Amino acid sequence: MAERNVVFAGEVTLPAIGQGTWYMGENDRQHSKEVDALRAGIDAGLTLIDTAEMYADGGAEEVVGDALQGGLRDKVYLVSKVYPWNAGGKKAIAACEASLRRLKTDYLDLYLLHWRGNFSLAETVEVMETLIAQGKIRRWGVSNLDYADMQELWRVQGGKACVTDQVLYHLGSRGIEYDLLPWCQQQQMPVMAYCPLAQAGRLRDGLLNNSVVTDIARAHNATAAQILLAWVISHERVMAIPKAGTVAHAQENAAALNITLSAEELARLDNAFPAPGRKTPLDVV
Ligand code: NDP
Repeated sequence: MAERNVVFAGEVTLPAIGQGTWYMGENDRQHSKEVDALRAGIDAGLTLIDTAEMYADGGAEEVVGDALQGGLRDKVYLVSKVYPWNAGGKKAIAACEASLRRLKTDYLDLYLLHWRGNFSLAETVEVMETLIAQGKIRRWGVSNLDYADMQELWRVQGGKACVTDQVLYHLGSRGIEYDLLPWCQQQQMPVMAYCPLAQAGRLRDGLLNNSVVTDIARAHNATAAQILLAWVISHERVMAIPKAGTVAHAQENAAALNITLSAEELARLDNAFPAPGRKTPLDVV
């Protein structure tokens, strides 16, 4: 049983499954349940937590901040994201400081541009470097940038310091395998796969009930969700960041780190859900 790892910026090795937080912090009555789920995930080894100023309008960051109280902050690789319209100049500094306040910490391990907007990539890179110099973030990266955007970023001064591209990727949506993923792998840059469970099948009808997926799950004494995660992290330098709102789901997702799919199982999944053989626009939610 091989636990999969992913290396960020050539310096931090993390388990290939982390924790998402979209839709956390929406409802006060769920607060302690969400805190418990995140803590159970950390306890089970899911030490990267992904959040954003966007989620519940800062509410998800507050849930994460509470989950990290009691000495957990330094055990976690904490990732947040800036809205595109805040991703330059003084707005970015203020947005980052507000995220830090909600997260009750004084630094982010990684700060991502959530998606491209009106600020030029050069302006965003510049302010990310300022935030690093101020000690507010350790590293920066991007999200929802397709292959052509990454080529543009690589031409910007300082652009190659980007640590990751966080994009939608699951068994039912494999467009990044055409160009973006191989290119990131060549750069030795990890990709963070969001919606790795296709939002529990909502984004791709039938994914969790597909007979190939459930057959393979049975063979591993695992759940279909675990097979979807094991499939995502079977790809070199890919980390999955499922969101779990319960302790049981967090623990189940962590256990997927120990599932290794055989070449034959991967071929069956490939056959049932083939990657597109041509360029397709980057899938987003
Ligand atoms: P996911 O694919 O992670 O699916 C989340 C859903 O799956 C929830 O309904 C959750 O239910 C359910 N679930 C979790 N674990 C299990 C399990 N073991 N068995 C069955 N169901 C399970 O979708 P997300 O959209 O949340 O994506 C993951 C994360 O990626 C986000 O939370 C966010 O951090 C990030 N993201 C980033 C985006 C970007 O633009 N950069 C866009 C979208 C997401 P329950 O809550 O009941 O556990």
